[in-house]
Amino acid sequence: MNTDERYARLQRSENARERNVAYEQIQRLNPRPQVTMFLPQTPTSKTLPELVSETVGPLYQRANGDAEASCPWHSSKSGRCLVIYCDGTRWLCRSCRRGGDAIAWLVLTRDMSIRAARNFLGLPPRPARRRQRPTLWARIP
Ligand SMILES: [Zn+2]
Repeated sequence: MNTDERYARLQRSENARERNVAYEQIQRLNPRPQVTMFLPQTPTSKTLPELVSETVGPLYQRANGDAEASCPWHSSKSGRCLVIYCDGTRWLCRSCRRGGDAIAWLVLTRDMSIRAARNFLGLPPRPARRRQRPTLWARIP
């Protein structure tokens, strides 16, 4: 008789303590599979300039380290209204004032949710915001 059968038999025991032990042992032997919220996806190692250039094409490097590109939401004469600042973490369109970080870029250009974009970039999901307790008593000044 293997352990599984032994504990299965013990689960039908008259003794409540034995039943509890059997239950705990069965749980321990057959742990529940970990349920993950998202399909595991290998996070991209691409930087913001690379992600932008995938969408809008080649970037123009400026002497000050910023990169410029055309904005995907409208046409422009110069084709350089979108700036990626030299630190490579933020972008801004001078013309339509859209801007943000890599998450915002993915959300706006690839129809991703913020959560999916964070996952794509290998960032942990943001912790759920703590719910505020409703105020029961108003403070009377
Ligand atoms: Zn724009």
